[in-house]
Amino acid sequence: MSTTTTTPLQQPRRVERLIAGMPTSDGAGVKLTRVLTQDLQRRLDPFLMLDAFGSDQPDDYIAGFPDHPHRGFETVTYMIAGRMLHRDSAGNEGLLENGGVQWMTAGRGVIHSEIPQQEHGVMEGFQLWLNLPGRDKMNPPWYRDFKNADLPQFTTPEGVAVTVIAGVSHGVVGAVTRDGTQALYLDLHFKAGSSFTQPLPAGHNAFVYVYRGEVTVGGQRVPVQRMALLANDQDSDGVFIEAGQEAKVLLIAGQPLNEPIAQYGPFVMNTKEEIYQALADFRDGKLGEEAQV
Ligand code: FE
Repeated sequence: MSTTTTTPLQQPRRVERLIAGMPTSDGAGVKLTRVLTQDLQRRLDPFLMLDAFGSDQPDDYIAGFPDHPHRGFETVTYMIAGRMLHRDSAGNEGLLENGGVQWMTAGRGVIHSEIPQQEHGVMEGFQLWLNLPGRDKMNPPWYRDFKNADLPQFTTPEGVAVTVIAGVSHGVVGAVTRDGTQALYLDLHFKAGSSFTQPLPAGHNAFVYVYRGEVTVGGQRVPVQRMALLANDQDSDGVFIEAGQEAKVLLIAGQPLNEPIAQYGPFVMNTKEEIYQALADFRDGKLGEEAQV
């Protein structure tokens, strides 16, 4: 499907800085790069974390993420290659593979596991943590799996293939839309010599992550495995991304919540007291229990 091109921007965003991320491990020893680290949570509000994982070495991923809790935010897992089985305390089970997306709103509490279903081959993907407004943090959990074929996709006249995981792009409504954070999550596949325009409100925090090739944003070269944090200049009206070579890029943006962020591991609330409550509920077996009734 081809859609009409958007009007050119008056003032495309600049790159404020490039970020390489931190090699780390999580779960039962899954090697990954934490691209969006905790020190950027305020700057990139409403986004709390972005992990990139990619390896063809089973030891890097085989142990997966055994049972663990979440409360107060949403996790979005985008599987580029590989197979991972999700099970949670709300009774959901889903196989996530090859271009599929799993969107989980932890709300007041979910206990889940994410376990690889392969013993060799490549496992590659991303997990994004999206905050919830305080008023929604204790909502019931919500969960959906999208196979790649079920994700809204379009190709621009220039040949940029766009997958709209969240939000709206060029009139195409994504798999998920959120009123509070107005999250935009696009996967862009560029041909050599193509470009892409996305209007963005100046106040929305936004970043680009390049996972194949390289692109140019606002005159700044953004190499592979780098996040470009986009400036929020008052008169900016969007982002313009050019690719001199084939490239694959995530473009992520959202409206800041401007609320206090209290995080303890997998719990993200507004206050310390709410964190203590989450820990107590988890300890007492109350986190996630109601969903099992
Ligand atoms: Fe998790």
